[in-house]
Amino acid sequence: MNNLELKNRDLDVLWHPCTQMKDHETLPLIPIKKAHGVYLEDFEGNSYIDAISSWWVNLFGHTNRYINDKIKEQLDTLEHVILAGFTHEQVVKLSERLVKLTPNGLEKCFYSDNGSSAVEVALKMSYHAHKNDGKNKTIFVSLTNSYHGETIGALSVGDVELYKDTYAPLLLKTLQTAVPKDMSIEAAHVAAIEFEALCKQRADEISAIILEPLIQGAGSMHMYHPEFLVHVRKICDKYDVHLIADEVMVGFGRTGELFACSHANITPDFLVLSKGLTGGYLPLSVVLTTNDIYAKFYCDYSEHKAFLHSHSYTGNALACAAANATLDIFEKDDVINRNKTLSKYMGAKLQKFLELENVASIRQTGMICAVDLKGYAPELRIGLSVYQHGLKNGVLLRPLGHVIYFMPPYIITNDEIDKMMDTAYEAIRLL
Ligand SMILES: *Cc1c(COP(=O)(O)O)cnc(C)c1O
Repeated sequence: MNNLELKNRDLDVLWHPCTQMKDHETLPLIPIKKAHGVYLEDFEGNSYIDAISSWWVNLFGHTNRYINDKIKEQLDTLEHVILAGFTHEQVVKLSERLVKLTPNGLEKCFYSDNGSSAVEVALKMSYHAHKNDGKNKTIFVSLTNSYHGETIGALSVGDVELYKDTYAPLLLKTLQTAVPKDMSIEAAHVAAIEFEALCKQRADEISAIILEPLIQGAGSMHMYHPEFLVHVRKICDKYDVHLIADEVMVGFGRTGELFACSHANITPDFLVLSKGLTGGYLPLSVVLTTNDIYAKFYCDYSEHKAFLHSHSYTGNALACAAANATLDIFEKDDVINRNKTLSKYMGAKLQKFLELENVASIRQTGMICAVDLKGYAPELRIGLSVYQHGLKNGVLLRPLGHVIYFMPPYIITNDEIDKMMDTAYEAIRLL
């Protein structure tokens, strides 16, 4: 097998995600043979630093010895079993740990297979919980510039035009309230006032607000102050609106805390987790909620209040084993503390980008750094040039429009950070 052969066979039969396939007439598809640590390697021995953790999922490197062993162990014990009426050790252990690790008051875990489907679960549960209380609340609120996945419900609460506009006629009715415009505490206050005004007007129709705590990932790594979450929690309590925290991207240490809600010391009514949950190994997601919400569904079968949502692979045993192995690593390697040193190192290097004329601004929250380029028309596809320069120089960067960001696996070394960020610096300098 070589790069060319696999590329050609691929294009005969595959349709890739988030891709205009015609681009591959000129843009090379990169066949990956194997991966280890932060490195992806093709069939000709070229390697690439995975600066985006393979779409934000990988935490402790590729083919991580410890996680591999735990999955192999599980593979010979139990690969999967139906989770309705049945249970297994890995899913129970994982749920106990998640209840302990997540903000106080989240006591029940409902599993699904990916971030979007977990968002659907949270939306349906919120609506249904109100309904079981005799209320008909049919509107969801989200923040401007938000992203919550691409199934119809998840897309409905998103606000990134690129993904949403085409499907607008198919979507649920939602309302958007402004995300804080920058990381200042003033911006957090201003945005909270707008959300409260909306609630004052329409709270009896609003089921929940869904938001990405602190960082809007697909919304070009837009960041805001934790104080906004404190306000939103209070407003939600006051107006009987649920708070859904979508930590699909920010969860598991990306913001510097294990969960982003901890920066504001709040407990959402629903916490949505996926991506890093299995260390980037297998599809799995979970919605955690309170005993209070759970109790609204708990009654005799004949009352028809049960949450009858299901997915075939709910709580898959291999995925749960990978998730438990991931949590083991957080515990035994004191990851959150170790990451503080790494994020400080990345932050210092990030400052250097301000020397470049075409850089408008930089920002960082924990393990995520972003660089905004200025003044490029969208049709120039400036991010694509940076992507290609990265590949030529052994780094997988995948800019979001004119925003270059770094979100590497936590096992990256200082030397690898140097290479990752210096390559991006050079790419921007040469634009
Ligand atoms: C990626 C993402 C999703 C969707 O998850 P998928 O597993 O891709 O369906 C939802 N919310 C946020 C914040 C995400 O970053």
